[in-house]
Amino acid sequence: TISKRLKQIALLVPQGSRLADIGSDHALLPVYLVQQGTIESAIAGELNPGPYAAAAKQVREAGLSRQIDVRNGDGLSVLKDGEADVAVIAGMGGHLIARILGEGIAALPSIRRLILQPNVGEEAVRQWLLDNGWFLEQEHIMEEDGKIYEIMAAIRSEEAEEANQALYCVRPVEGTEGIMLERADLISMGPYLVQEVSPVFVAKWEREIDKLVKVSDQLANSRLEASEAKQEQINKRIDRIKEVLQCLQ
Ligand code: SAM
Repeated sequence: TISKRLKQIALLVPQGSRLADIGSDHALLPVYLVQQGTIESAIAGELNPGPYAAAAKQVREAGLSRQIDVRNGDGLSVLKDGEADVAVIAGMGGHLIARILGEGIAALPSIRRLILQPNVGEEAVRQWLLDNGWFLEQEHIMEEDGKIYEIMAAIRSEEAEEANQALYCVRPVEGTEGIMLERADLISMGPYLVQEVSPVFVAKWEREIDKLVKVSDQLANSRLEASEAKQEQINKRIDRIKEVLQCLQ
């Protein structure tokens, strides 16, 4: 059985999709989706020989070699236009996801939907979507085995820019003034996630504050010249996260 994280990703794949799973590792997602009857076939892309072999083996053992085509290559380069309408890129850093999209998606107009799950660097993915005419349609946040994951779905849209740039005015909670979230806040924290404020969301940002406080303390003890400015920047970041959290809760 597959992880809760992969199940949540699977839920975002529409019935009847032609799926490309990029960085498929053991091809668990396409195997699951074919077995569930959500999709009829899929392409599983893998750059690295180990995971590529693992994917091929998994597909063979599931008896799905006719339905799932395992391909070896970098990012979206394994695809030809028209072969897929949904691409999943999950379980890697946000900067790598943005690079893969930047290098390949322009040549693939048949892909209408992206399902992205960065392990870190979510803001790099949101920024890429915003800059490249994709509309962030859904965001989910979840915890599994102590790790917190964000999962995003995006569609192509002419309105992408306008929709994503809208500023959300957050209602004041008792005893506070209320604050205006800025675009940088939304790109960092997620325009939908800030509206839900689930316990997992709060936990994620409390962990982030703890991490930043540690970095700030280290910088305070360092004698390097650049440390002071860097520390000031991190302290500002901490204050902003706290301010937003306090207002949202
Ligand atoms: N997508 C699966 C998931 O979410 O469970 C597997 C995630 S696994 C941690 C990341 C995989 O991406 C690795 O198997 C790695 O080999 C692959 N990968 C990394 N860079 C890649 C690239 N540029 N193109 C294709 N695959 C890549």
